[in-house]
Amino acid sequence: MNQYSPSGTAFTAPAKKQLGQHFLADRHYIDSIVRAVNPKPGDRLVEIGPGQGAITLPLLRQHPELTVIEFDRDLIAPLTAAAAPLGALTIIQSDVLRVDFTALAQAEGGSGQIRLVGNLPYNISSPILFHALDHAAVVRDMHFMLQKEVVDRMAAGPGSKVFGRLSVMLQAYCEVTSLFVVPPGAFRPPPKVDSAVVRLVPRDPSTVGIHDARRFAEVVKAAFGQRRKTLRNALNNVVSAEQFAAAGVRPDARAEQLEVAEFVALANAS
Ligand code: SAM
Repeated sequence: MNQYSPSGTAFTAPAKKQLGQHFLADRHYIDSIVRAVNPKPGDRLVEIGPGQGAITLPLLRQHPELTVIEFDRDLIAPLTAAAAPLGALTIIQSDVLRVDFTALAQAEGGSGQIRLVGNLPYNISSPILFHALDHAAVVRDMHFMLQKEVVDRMAAGPGSKVFGRLSVMLQAYCEVTSLFVVPPGAFRPPPKVDSAVVRLVPRDPSTVGIHDARRFAEVVKAAFGQRRKTLRNALNNVVSAEQFAAAGVRPDARAEQLEVAEFVALANAS
């Protein structure tokens, strides 16, 4: 493996398990992530959880401005020092779930769209995904490292055993592409599971077609709450026979057989 010291400076703080700290330490995968992001002049990159700078510093070498959001105060000073010779790093010390991406995108007269990047803390990866979805209108794309099992669920299609609520909720709003797998040995300390990098590109809001986001989320949740049952039973108190008919969805189907567009039709029919 290509061991990689991100800055050449001393980053000696021990990893904090409660913050999901597994630092990338393999140059091959770091380079692959930077290539996948492929920053272009004028892009407004925002990295979630820069940690010790494994992705941050190579990104800064290619792109002179970067904003990062890091919860761990102990990492701020060394990150600032390591980034100083490379470019303009803006550090927001905060829980990412409290950061308003829309306000961030609109700050300083920006074009209004940001690109999100991050080797995410796995313990809160789903809340981060849904938080980003809430701000999808200002997000051009996202490149995230997550547990491979989660990426498999995000990208799964109907008929797959792992097609579920996360697949439908994300695919309704984004194009989801699983890019590559990263083994535990690429991290310090190694996680127990394989990881994968995924690209999400939010769809143009005018093409999403969901009339009421809360109703859509309710229908999807109920449908997969009892995935072995027919939709007629799983959605017993949620969707009526008339609404099934209006949506053109068979009530004897099961949730895992439906296309994302059929969930949209069911929610819109109500
Ligand atoms: N990007 C670095 C890398 O690839 O080596 C670190 C990735 S590590 C898996 C996740 C990072 O997210 C850590 O630096 C951790 O401190 C940070 N983090 C954890 N919870 C956070 C939160 N709620 N908000 C912002 N950052 C958080």
